Amino acid sequence: MPHSTRRLSIRLIVLIALLAATALAPPNRVAAQAGGATQAASSTRPADPQLPYTPSLDLTAMDRAADPCLDFYQFACGGWVKNNPIPPDQSSWTTYGKMQDENRTLLRALLVTAAAGGAPRTANEQKIGDYYSACMDEPAIEQRGARPLAAQLDAIAKIASIADMAAVVANNHIRMLGRGSALFGVGAEQDAKDATETIAAVDQGGLGLPDRDYYLKDEAKSKEIRERYVEHVARVLQLVGDTPDAAAAGARTVLRIETELAKGHMSRVDRRNPDNTYHRQSRGQLKEMAPSWPWDSYFRQMGIEMKDLNVTSPGYFTALEKQLTTVPLNDWKTYLRWQTALLASPYLSAAFVNADFDFFNKTLAGAREQQPRWKRCVGRVDRHLGEALGQVYVEKYFTEDTRARTLRMVKQIEAAMEADINSLAWMSADTKKQAVEKLHGVTNKIGHPEKWRDYSTVTIAAGDYFGDATNAMGFEVRRHLNKIGKPLVRGEWYLSPPTVNANYDPQMNEINFPAGVLQPPAFDPKMDDAPNYGNTGGTIGHELTHGFDDEGRRFDARGNLRDWWTEADGKEFERRASCISDQYSNYIAVDEVHVNGKLTLGEDVADLGGLILAYRAWLTETARKSPAAKDELTPSQRFFVGYGQSWCSNARPETQRLRAITDPHSPEKYRTNGVISNMPEFSKAFACKAGQPMVREPVCKIW
Ligand SMILES: [Zn+2]
Repeated sequence: MPHSTRRLSIRLIVLIALLAATALAPPNRVAAQAGGATQAASSTRPADPQLPYTPSLDLTAMDRAADPCLDFYQFACGGWVKNNPIPPDQSSWTTYGKMQDENRTLLRALLVTAAAGGAPRTANEQKIGDYYSACMDEPAIEQRGARPLAAQLDAIAKIASIADMAAVVANNHIRMLGRGSALFGVGAEQDAKDATETIAAVDQGGLGLPDRDYYLKDEAKSKEIRERYVEHVARVLQLVGDTPDAAAAGARTVLRIETELAKGHMSRVDRRNPDNTYHRQSRGQLKEMAPSWPWDSYFRQMGIEMKDLNVTSPGYFTALEKQLTTVPLNDWKTYLRWQTALLASPYLSAAFVNADFDFFNKTLAGAREQQPRWKRCVGRVDRHLGEALGQVYVEKYFTEDTRARTLRMVKQIEAAMEADINSLAWMSADTKKQAVEKLHGVTNKIGHPEKWRDYSTVTIAAGDYFGDATNAMGFEVRRHLNKIGKPLVRGEWYLSPPTVNANYDPQMNEINFPAGVLQPPAFDPKMDDAPNYGNTGGTIGHELTHGFDDEGRRFDARGNLRDWWTEADGKEFERRASCISDQYSNYIAVDEVHVNGKLTLGEDVADLGGLILAYRAWLTETARKSPAAKDELTPSQRFFVGYGQSWCSNARPETQRLRAITDPHSPEKYRTNGVISNMPEFSKAFACKAGQPMVREPVCKIW
């Protein structure tokens, strides 16, 4: 689901959401070299892998028989869609998913070398190598079974009051970053209205399913998923020692509690407006909102000191209070056993891992098979020790030349945006001045951090997977929480360097392009400018436009939540934005489910603005080059095909449904056709006629 916008607010919680998304939609597939995955890491040492080369404009991915004016996605991606069936361990398969999959073979080679030892290892090599080999050591993991949870389960059994729950929940929050957060979420965030400060935040949470809709919707599909969820929870409760009867009853209890908590959740659409999630309050006010929770004891055990904090979703804490005063203690114990096992499952024996896969990947997302273990382990190292792995990765695979070329494209697209802002007929001079100031304030992060994260306090030992994972996650949680009450630090990275994705952070006002995304087919040094500007140029424009989408526009150049728009300009923005959300809400995601155009608005605005800017930057770049037609495609046609091919995709219906509820990105087909049909530059390039499906009239346009 590439190209995200990232609110700094609730950074920790965002991180959790990111991990959940990754777990639900594994971006990898089984590859030919999967054999030997269950053996010890050192015995499967591969030679330095070579990535297969896919050009940024791939003729075999096209369907030249299709009419680009009727369905451009089919024209650009028809061949790809036909030739790239979804691998059995995937829930979807995309241009980016394939890139990430291939990239993992590079990471695996680095990790196997680091795990083998022998030659002296750097501190980073020791950590990533030993973590990887511990993760691959299935016999040791099997032998431990559920034992790594014993202390937690024992502590839950001894709970005699709500006050006793604080220690269990704090332990859970400190050590486990997973797909959710027992009872509620906690984190450190940049204060939305004072960008120099880092404050504490508590957020809605407490669910096992990916969204409140799964609990609250009443149509057949939601009911069916809830039934399967209850079966899954019962299966896991048995794994932690409940009898079948107790587990079945316990699972109903869990669904009941989580459903009540879900009713307190603010919707994803409402959360897009940062005013809705900013409620800086005193600690005393939070205690008044949910007096039954032992806040002081909980915060002490989390190591958090503060006078006030952001309560992102106040309604949630009212709902939580109601549950704390009505749910019997024994039911809370069942709930906590489930939540603890839920977060720990990926790091435990096969019984837990398989149950977890069966529900979250198979039932919810449609995958048929588990990823081979080595791919899961590569992914875990990247998530838990991302900059240790990233440092080794960029030394070998990233060049300063790539950084310089990317930066050049960024500068051209920034210049295109400045010219665009200044030429807008609908925006007043006052707002334009502020918009340009914000544009000039954008920081560009390309490739990797200047200063690397110091993992020296993280203990990693070969042979202790659960210990390594909780140590690494605990380090990350404490690192975030330690920022509370301190001045904001700029310059850190929130995507690891090997990540095949990019983002914009409206509170930092920065765009982030990790090394992993700056390779073919997204960025292809061997190819002509047109497809590269359509693809990576479009992505750069997309991230930059996020600063001016429905959410990003509410933050100023310094990252403060402040309305810098005149009233008339703000209204005109909303009017133009509603053209886009109406357009996308008409698209079908799967079966009877429509795209939620209000949820995807920011991404859709960024896709459209981004491609318009990239097109202008490409015109500037090639003004004196007079590029030639190639492969029977004119240069401007090549630009659009390059863009379209960044979104080639196949997805299982389960994933399409999951994404329609949880993903702020539209389905790939509409990220292509929805955008180009709003661009007269496209209809001119392909000589499309008024009234054809790829020619919208009138077009939606903001930037
Ligand atoms: Zn985005």
